[in-house]
Amino acid sequence: MVADRTATQVYQRGRVTITVAGIPAVAVCPQCNNAVLEWDVAQQVEDLVQPLLRWTEKHTLPEPVVNVVFPASA
Ligand SMILES: [Zn+2]
Repeated sequence: MVADRTATQVYQRGRVTITVAGIPAVAVCPQCNNAVLEWDVAQQVEDLVQPLLRWTEKHTLPEPVVNVVFPASA
């Protein structure tokens, strides 16, 4: 594990794929890209993506590709 500023995580459910970049991370493994997030940060990202992931349950449009980028100053 080495210190790193941000992490990128991909969330997928059904037909929805969400890539979240710029997540403030405690550390990111250079080997497997696994990120260590503070609990509060992870929770905030979950709150952001869960409604989008649930979108697929009630809608029939083709799969959306969602990219979320937090600015570097976050
Ligand atoms: Zn690793």
